[in-house]
Amino acid sequence: MKIVVDPEKCKGSGRCVKACPENAISLRDGTAVIDEARCDLDGICLPACPNGAISLLEGED
Ligand code: SF4
Repeated sequence: MKIVVDPEKCKGSGRCVKACPENAISLRDGTAVIDEARCDLDGICLPACPNGAISLLEGED
């Protein structure tokens, strides 16, 4: 599994950046970017996004 950000939906609110307990998310050019090395796939950032831009992609590691 991995966390993915849909750049079309991401408005750069930064809510996910604050929500992530692992500090795995940063904004780059106004779009959230996930640091996969830090992400522990807890899913906390999914409901934090007001635009539904973050999702958990099954089947990839
Ligand atoms: S799934 Fe958890 S650890 Fe990974 S980016 Fe989202 S909030 Fe951070």
